[in-house]
Amino acid sequence: MKKSISIIGAGVAGLFAGCHGQINGYNTQIFEMHNLPGGVCTSWKRKGYTIDGCAHWVTGTRPGTRFYRLWEELDLVKDWSMVDHKEYARIEGSDDEVFIVYSEIDRLEQHMKELAPEDKDVIDEFIKAIHKSKDFPIPWEKAPELLTPIDRLKIISSMFPYASFFRKWGNKTIKDVVQRFTNPFLKQTFPLIFNLQNPLDFPILAVLMTLSWVDQKTAGYPIGGSLEFSKAIAQRYLDLGGKINYKSKISKILVENDKAVGVKLTDGSEYRSDIIISAANGHTTIFDMLEGKYVNKRIQDYYDKFTLYRPLVYVSLGVAHSFEEIPQTVTGIDFPLDESIIIGGQEQKRMSVQFYNFDPTLAPAGKTFVRVMYASDYEYWKTLKQNPERYKTEKKQIVEDVIASLDKRFPGLAAKVEMSDVATATTWERYTSNWKGSFQGWQETTKTLRMRLKKTLPGLKNFYMVGQWVEPGGSLPKVAISGRNVIQIICHKDKKEFVTLTP
Ligand SMILES: Cc1cc2nc3c(=O)[nH]c(=O)nc-3n(C[C@H](O)[C@H](O)[C@H](O)COP(=O)(O)OP(=O)(O)OC[C@H]3O[C@@H](n4cnc5c(N)ncnc54)[C@H](O)[C@@H]3O)c2cc1C
Repeated sequence: MKKSISIIGAGVAGLFAGCHGQINGYNTQIFEMHNLPGGVCTSWKRKGYTIDGCAHWVTGTRPGTRFYRLWEELDLVKDWSMVDHKEYARIEGSDDEVFIVYSEIDRLEQHMKELAPEDKDVIDEFIKAIHKSKDFPIPWEKAPELLTPIDRLKIISSMFPYASFFRKWGNKTIKDVVQRFTNPFLKQTFPLIFNLQNPLDFPILAVLMTLSWVDQKTAGYPIGGSLEFSKAIAQRYLDLGGKINYKSKISKILVENDKAVGVKLTDGSEYRSDIIISAANGHTTIFDMLEGKYVNKRIQDYYDKFTLYRPLVYVSLGVAHSFEEIPQTVTGIDFPLDESIIIGGQEQKRMSVQFYNFDPTLAPAGKTFVRVMYASDYEYWKTLKQNPERYKTEKKQIVEDVIASLDKRFPGLAAKVEMSDVATATTWERYTSNWKGSFQGWQETTKTLRMRLKKTLPGLKNFYMVGQWVEPGGSLPKVAISGRNVIQIICHKDKKEFVTLTP
């Protein structure tokens, strides 16, 4: 008889675990608290507009490049329509100067040298490092937990040509590069390449990799938005015979003799299965569903000491204008504000805006979905939410301030706004249960970049965790890999060969 697997959460990690479980002969079912698949990889509708709530880019969208096979294995690529932008971002200064982060590396190099000829040497090193990152080996097809000493030796030897590259850049942050620039404009704008909460501490390796993927046109934006992207994976799972139980919130993982044996829903119903995989937020899984009984110091330390991606204030606007005149970018235009604004209790002097003028599916003809986002504090929103009237008023004020600021930079915009929506920390918490409203789990640092947390908990059998709470930094490919590879681990334990749809 087939072994049964219960999966908690129909985010991308849970869906990938489900698909590969079905392909490998397990009887799987997913329990999802929401009425839709995707988790944070989602979109929502307002007044004829689709608000995209996630993917700026999906790594591995071009055949022959790293991670393409991850998506191809589930036959997802055939229905894809991906857009590659000529620009990654635009970062404006106060005096008409603009740092255009071109997707094409050669163009980026030329532009940076025009902006800051005095920093030629640092720019040369940076550009060379992006080129080198293109083929940087990131082994993913075998779960790290299953690597043999020979596999490890092979990986080490494949990394050998990168030893000096890694020594040079492996532990560096954006700050280390910025410190070396002498040009004040580049110093000011370079940290803003990624719209991040603590840009200076961000590992430069992640910047190099991303820019190399964008240059290779393998970091496309999925036309149709994030929910359609997730729905396609959910459909593949259903086609493979899987079952998704929506509106099914798990309150407890049932354990007998230190063995996970099933799940209990908030309505009191129980489902037993041979294996449980939690693809839901790590804190709820470990400390609520399992009542903190399977924790060691190391795990406790992650939850006490690691930095989280702070929750977002996500301001969405529907604007009755095509914005054809605005260049299409991966992450948007970052510009200084004439007058600072307060978002979530914090003063903001800049704004990063994305015009989704490249995805006509998100707005009625000739109109555009426009999005502004800021990192903010969980506690602030949690407290405010206790007073619904104040929460509502604050959101209204944010919309007004954002529209007024946008109108100064893009005159005429305010008069054409016909839809607005604000999501906060408590929105993410309510819809996805992510801990403290974090949208992407543990923040990437030079330390966590290379870390993988264990997919098992000490002393608990037949139980696994996947997704962004065991893959620091999150991201669609990383969580998909963790969902795929947990099935590899289970197959290995069951002495079965792990198979994929396409050989
Ligand atoms: C604004 C934004 C932009 C992003 N941009 C990018 C990008 O450009 N590129 C990229 O690669 N990544 C991006 N990411 C990150 C990426 O989307 C996430 O890392 C990834 O989707 C997380 O997937 P997951 O399955 O691990 O977790 P989640 O998506 O959080 O899924 C967990 C699921 O579990 C469910 N759940 C939780 N608790 C329970 C329970 N008790 N019972 C039942 N179900 C439960 C939730 O409802 C949810 O569906 C972005 C994320 C956001 C929010």
